Amino acid sequence: MNGTRTWQLFLGRCIFCGRCEEVCPTRAIVLSQEFEMAVANKADLFQRATFRLLACHECHRPFAPEKGVAYTVALLQQAGMSSEDAQIRRT
Ligand code: SF4
Repeated sequence: MNGTRTWQLFLGRCIFCGRCEEVCPTRAIVLSQEFEMAVANKADLFQRATFRLLACHECHRPFAPEKGVAYTVALLQQAGMSSEDAQIRRT
């Protein structure tokens, strides 16, 4: 593991069913009528994003995307976690 994880979506396989929008827990996915699927190169239908991983405090191996941990900590703060505890868990 190198401390990053790359996420990839191939839009050529999307059938516009809307399931991803339906199940997205953060409402980050929103389908619309505005899109363009005509490309000269099929490789242009790949969407990629690379996320930095946080390392475990115990074994020091990368274990989860930093963004995912930050989102989880924010949810725990909303549920009553103190700011001090949140800061420890973010690093
Ligand atoms: S779940 Fe989302 S990405 Fe997958 S086929 Fe349906 S609309 Fe496309």
